[in-house]
Amino acid sequence: MVDTHVHVNEPGRTDWEGFETATRAAAAGGVTTLLDMPLNSIPATTSVMALHEKARAARGKTWINVGFIGGVVPGNASALGDLARAGVRAFKCFLVPSGVPEFHHVTQPDLREAMPILAELGLPLMVHAELPEVVEAATLDATAGDPAKYATYLASRPAAAEHEAVALVIELAELTGARAHVVHVSSAQTVRMVSSARARGVRITAETCPHYLWFDADEIPDGATEYKCAPPIRRTDDRDGLWSALSSGELQTIVSDHSPCPPILKRRDVGDFFVAWGGIASLQLGSAVVWTAMHERGLPIERLVEWMSAGPARLAGLEDRKGVIAAGYDADLVLFDPDGVIEVREDMLLHRHAVTPYLGAALRGTVEATYVRGMRAFDRRTGPAAEPPGDLLLHSHP
Ligand SMILES: [Zn+2]
Repeated sequence: MVDTHVHVNEPGRTDWEGFETATRAAAAGGVTTLLDMPLNSIPATTSVMALHEKARAARGKTWINVGFIGGVVPGNASALGDLARAGVRAFKCFLVPSGVPEFHHVTQPDLREAMPILAELGLPLMVHAELPEVVEAATLDATAGDPAKYATYLASRPAAAEHEAVALVIELAELTGARAHVVHVSSAQTVRMVSSARARGVRITAETCPHYLWFDADEIPDGATEYKCAPPIRRTDDRDGLWSALSSGELQTIVSDHSPCPPILKRRDVGDFFVAWGGIASLQLGSAVVWTAMHERGLPIERLVEWMSAGPARLAGLEDRKGVIAAGYDADLVLFDPDGVIEVREDMLLHRHAVTPYLGAALRGTVEATYVRGMRAFDRRTGPAAEPPGDLLLHSHP
């Protein structure tokens, strides 16, 4: 399985996660390749120097294959070509504040400068699509509500913020010819916008994540900030709409958006959704979560491979090496028991921190063993391999 949306946070915020813990957890979840997001690490991956620093931090510590995503931030257009030549497999930008000061969000002029460059480089731009004006106005309206209620947080980030941002991304992708990819889609309407743009020739794709496919906003307990992410988990109409879009093939990719932090930053002590760090940890659990939900919906396991391996492999430009079991492809293999059952407990999680909204869930589908280019990375009986078999997916090595 290929997961193109992981926040490893090393170097700089290694106490949040780290290459060793993230890739061991990934291997335990059947993920054989991940792409690391350019932010939450310090430095953020917005220059070649920062990419090299990250590669040095990762080298020798990866139980699976790791590739990197470069950042598009205000003022770094001149660094994009060098980042692409050094081997980043995609770029990422935010249209709203990202939550960390070293990774600024972009505005339309920044995108009009960066997207033609990316079109020429032939790499996709992954976009966090929410518009700040819409979020700010909704947040002002929501502040009268109880900040420990999930519904208050949900109201502060309405689906309209995603829809209006995606309309802008579609317009700019059409104008510049750049390939755009909407990350972590939370609203079913967004998928319809993306697929109708694609039908008229705009180069745009989208992904969703296990948490939007599993949880229901109306069932999130008060103060349960481990469920906080942006855009937020919505209600069952959106959840069902995302499943229909996957089934119909309009939506082709599921990735984790694993974004952990130290437990203290989740502020369970106050249970305030507005002060807690947003991000859901699920790297080790994504395949079982998605498969459990698929099983309930009567969907065959081949579709899991399509959405969690072939789809993300295409996005990462790895479709000639990964995403298929075939002669000439990398022997990245998962031995998956579709009838195995697990209950998510803290002591089985290999993430650096055991904070996740899936604790206590009974899931179907166990990863018995994971192989990376033919070498065993993980075995359910003995745990992660003693030596890390993963590679860094880069063109030039520091
Ligand atoms: Zn993310």
